[in-house]
Amino acid sequence: MSAMHDIVIVGGGLVGSSLAIALDGSGLRVALVEAALPQVAAQPSYDERNLALARASINALGALGVWAKVEQAPAPITQIHISRRGGFGSAQLNAAELGLAEFGAVLPARELGNALLYRLESCRDLDRIAPAQLIAIESQDDAIGLGVLADGTQRQLRARLLVGADGTESFVRNHFAIGADRFDYAQSALVTTLTCERAPDGCAFERFTDSGPVALLPLAGNRAGLVLSVPTADAARVAELDDDAFIALVHERFGYRLGRFSRPGKRKPYPLARMLASALTAPRMVLVGNAAQTVHPLGAQGFNLGLRDALSLSELLIESRRDAGDPGAADLLARYVARRTPDRQATTAFSHDLVRLTRNPFPPLRWLGSLALGALDHLPPLKRRVALRGMGFRGDVSRLGLSP
Ligand SMILES: Cc1cc2nc3c(=O)[nH]c(=O)nc-3n(C[C@H](O)[C@H](O)[C@H](O)COP(=O)(O)OP(=O)(O)OC[C@H]3O[C@@H](n4cnc5c(N)ncnc54)[C@H](O)[C@@H]3O)c2cc1C
Repeated sequence: MSAMHDIVIVGGGLVGSSLAIALDGSGLRVALVEAALPQVAAQPSYDERNLALARASINALGALGVWAKVEQAPAPITQIHISRRGGFGSAQLNAAELGLAEFGAVLPARELGNALLYRLESCRDLDRIAPAQLIAIESQDDAIGLGVLADGTQRQLRARLLVGADGTESFVRNHFAIGADRFDYAQSALVTTLTCERAPDGCAFERFTDSGPVALLPLAGNRAGLVLSVPTADAARVAELDDDAFIALVHERFGYRLGRFSRPGKRKPYPLARMLASALTAPRMVLVGNAAQTVHPLGAQGFNLGLRDALSLSELLIESRRDAGDPGAADLLARYVARRTPDRQATTAFSHDLVRLTRNPFPPLRWLGSLALGALDHLPPLKRRVALRGMGFRGDVSRLGLSP
């Protein structure tokens, strides 16, 4: 007889792990199935990418007891500078001027992953199954049957609700034949850290150029996290450049606002593509995080958005548990879709349009981009609205996102 869980979460990445933690102590029987060993070095997305975390995400991670487990001090973002190379408009958002302490903070994904793994260890009721890969799904009348391969042996599980948190190429989404609308930006992001002559001092920079955007995130002291977009056809060559040639390229694209750069770390390329699942649910199944939508990293929205998926879902599941409801009930899943759709649509469109508008070589559109930046710089109420949305206070904000 296979084990019955209320909820089986497949994928223990940043989003699936956050969901498992949010459900701990709810009385629901939850299992978390993850293909990788539960170690930072083994988990593919717990790597050196620097995550800009919105204020609402930090609030929620604090309420979930994850933030307290972060060992490396996160670098606060107190200013955001947006500009376009060769354009006349630029905008500067300053948290203090808008009456805010900070917009968010920067933390390497490896550090957040480490904190999540620590916090998962203290989950009392969670059944952690790792390393184990979901290889089969069977829909039954009142549950979903799952075949999981662990240690060369197939194990059977049953769930009243299956959560697909298994990333962009989601096995769960494919099994349910849910379409994926894909857009290839034909660009790759090279991610690394470097030392700046002048400390970024809490300022995050977004700079748009014809060859793609560049983002620089503040880290401790004089270090900064760089995300440099290059055409994918050129990514391997750029990743192999020696330090001097790489720094010269960064200066060509970013300029000298922070003086001279030095000591770049290893360069890792990530091909950039958008993926939008054509549906978020199927009977007794729901998709969250990158399995539901994968966005360009330029707007720093991917995990922030996925965490909001996890928080909304956990709230609905905990509410339903109080009323002895069925976690896989169709009306619960419909409420989840209704609750997440506005934020999902707005955030994925924002990330996509930001990249397309700012790369558009057609002069009127470029001027429009410059004008928009200039206008934003002169309209404090609009600035505040943009800032609050960027901080994750958008749509139906979950209670954990609001708690300081
Ligand atoms: C360069 C870069 C910079 C970024 N910067 C930011 C940023 O500043 N801010 C931000 O909010 N976001 C950012 N993101 C996005 C963020 O990293 C992702 O949105 C986030 O990692 C998605 O987490 P996830 O848990 O949904 O998916 P994933 O991290 O892909 O996790 C999926 C997990 O599922 C497991 N899995 C897959 N298939 C199976 C299976 N069959 N059985 C069992 N387990 C399985 C995998 O092993 C994996 O651990 C960035 C992304 C990139 C690439």
